[in-house]
Amino acid sequence: MRLDSDSSTPDDVAKRAAQLRLEINRANRLYYVENAPELDDAEWDARMQELLAIEAAHPELQSPDSPTQRVGSPPAAGFDEVVHPVPMLSLGNVFDEDGFRAWYKRVLDYLELEKAPMVCELKIDGLALAITYRDGVMERAATRGDGERGEDVTANVRTIRSVPLTLDGPAGEIPPVVELRGEVFLPNSRFAALNAEREEAGLPAYVNPRNSASGSLRQLDSSETAKRPLDMFFYALGYVEGGEEPSSHWDTLQSMQRWGCRINDWTRKAETIEGVMAAIANAGEIRDSLDYGIDGVVIKIDSLSLQRRLGFVGRDPRWAIAYKFPAEQAETTLKAIHINVGRTGALTPWAELEPVIVGGVTVGRATLHNKDEIARKDFREGDRVVIQRAGDVIPQVVEVSPKNNRGADSKPYQFPDTCPSCGTETVQSEGEAVTRCVNATCPAQFERLLEHFASRGAMDIEGLGERVAQDLPRLGFVSNIADIYRLHERKAELLELDKMGETRVDNLLSAIEASRFQPLYRLLYALGLPGIGSESAEWLSRRFSSLSRLLEVTEEELLAIDGIGPVVASTLINYFGIEQNRNLIDNLIELGINPIDDTPEPSADHPANGATFVVTGRLESMSRSEAQNRIKTLGGKATGTVTKKTSYLVAGAEAGSKLEKARRLGIPVIDEAEFIAFMDDGVVPEVSAPDDH
Ligand SMILES: [Zn+2]
Repeated sequence: MRLDSDSSTPDDVAKRAAQLRLEINRANRLYYVENAPELDDAEWDARMQELLAIEAAHPELQSPDSPTQRVGSPPAAGFDEVVHPVPMLSLGNVFDEDGFRAWYKRVLDYLELEKAPMVCELKIDGLALAITYRDGVMERAATRGDGERGEDVTANVRTIRSVPLTLDGPAGEIPPVVELRGEVFLPNSRFAALNAEREEAGLPAYVNPRNSASGSLRQLDSSETAKRPLDMFFYALGYVEGGEEPSSHWDTLQSMQRWGCRINDWTRKAETIEGVMAAIANAGEIRDSLDYGIDGVVIKIDSLSLQRRLGFVGRDPRWAIAYKFPAEQAETTLKAIHINVGRTGALTPWAELEPVIVGGVTVGRATLHNKDEIARKDFREGDRVVIQRAGDVIPQVVEVSPKNNRGADSKPYQFPDTCPSCGTETVQSEGEAVTRCVNATCPAQFERLLEHFASRGAMDIEGLGERVAQDLPRLGFVSNIADIYRLHERKAELLELDKMGETRVDNLLSAIEASRFQPLYRLLYALGLPGIGSESAEWLSRRFSSLSRLLEVTEEELLAIDGIGPVVASTLINYFGIEQNRNLIDNLIELGINPIDDTPEPSADHPANGATFVVTGRLESMSRSEAQNRIKTLGGKATGTVTKKTSYLVAGAEAGSKLEKARRLGIPVIDEAEFIAFMDDGVVPEVSAPDDH
């Protein structure tokens, strides 16, 4: 049945939409979870297009669990904080069989049992997520964060095709509220493709799949996330309201799979230490053939009642342990040592290597850390060296191989005394590992600054990545930051270069144009002011509100800002004292790059100014982030932990341990209405002495 909208009744349309959702969801499940595709791409696409058309014509039929939601929604303002109802734990680690045996013995001793069956799972190198389903419908997805509080990334997780938007299963089996946990990751095969695209677009490459999964999941624009092929394996129940709990971890996994959640099919039971060790050996063997990174095996006691008896030591459960694989090492030849000059002039040595595969990834360069490290380990060009990759760490050169044979012409590496870019003599301050070029007009530093200026989080100029940031100054197009806003005048010359096609030139110029409207704090961060990260840039922006005002700033004014210490204050004053820097800022203002921060200044006489707040629980009229923002706007502090110094605890619905702690410490507790009156009208809440019954 295909609908012709002129002749169909609203009822038909609703039915058709429901039918399409059913078919698409089923197809997704077969494809992503069960690896048994039913529809081909064209058939799937036809259904999706029809459903999108129906939902566009009948907004009343839109629903958050519709598969169309997987294409993402417009940018969110940020991520709301989520308090995990049950903390997301960390795991203890062991690194060898002895360590594992010791752990298992402690478990058995604690339980006074002879044996306790276990389940082994691959430890996927991704990001932990907790997804709550209410009445079988995805309600919220949160990152692990610090284990107690994560970020609400629901809109982004909806775009991950292997994550069910609705659970299905036998009637009555799915609990009314259930939180499922698992690991989200970017497959290795798609990681390479994603990086190739980024390079094409002039964006910096991601270091590894884990890093790109994290970047993808935390996109503010979920339609961006939708373009990233993230994937997920489920591995645990977080918490359950109602419904019957399975008796073992193994059964939990089976239930989740029935509900449509993807479980890693390597997962296996083991009754004995030998069984576990065999599983670990197997995981080590297949590791390189997997399309995702693993860094070990997680072993869990299978029985949930035994898990409860075992409980926790600190933050680690006693009933689970991670057996970590050793860092993967390989031997290769150190072809040459190069020096990279960073934005702040730091000279970082790196090794050009004979390409070698380590942990399934080809490594052609690795870090050598700093001058002293090279001297201490006596790395020389031409040496055979041992390199390693561990988890998300950048590959590093560990040591000279014991099998290395040096020829007669081998010489210790001479770390340069001068900057390889500008030739200025380098300096190494007492007690600092870093060697620096202190030339303010160093070309290499400028190229890095340009790249930083254009980066995400700064001015976000797509197309101005590492390569272009090198080319523009070297070809004489840009000699200071302000020049990029004059680049459009030289479009014809840019096109003549025939380095970039017309489309790329157009895209670059329009991205530069769009960046004019970035807020002041971003511009301040982008300028790379010494000591100013993105957070302190916000303080400066809010306090001084314009570039011209900043040029007049005094040291006293800077020191009055919370979070700016004497060192940063004096380097900033120095920075603004240098004529070149003042000229740059004047230039930007002349070119119309002059954003004004009109966030109201905290009024010194608002009673919230200087007070410290903790917001907990669910507020009706605003999110917790909004509440925290209002506090900061008025000059108060919003923190996450109740201490003796807390002035007020703002308690929303379902406030938990923080409320208890505030009562215990005698911290004044106010409700949402009191909080709003306080913020809006400066009505200081009347706080009765805490009762101590
Ligand atoms: Zn230099």
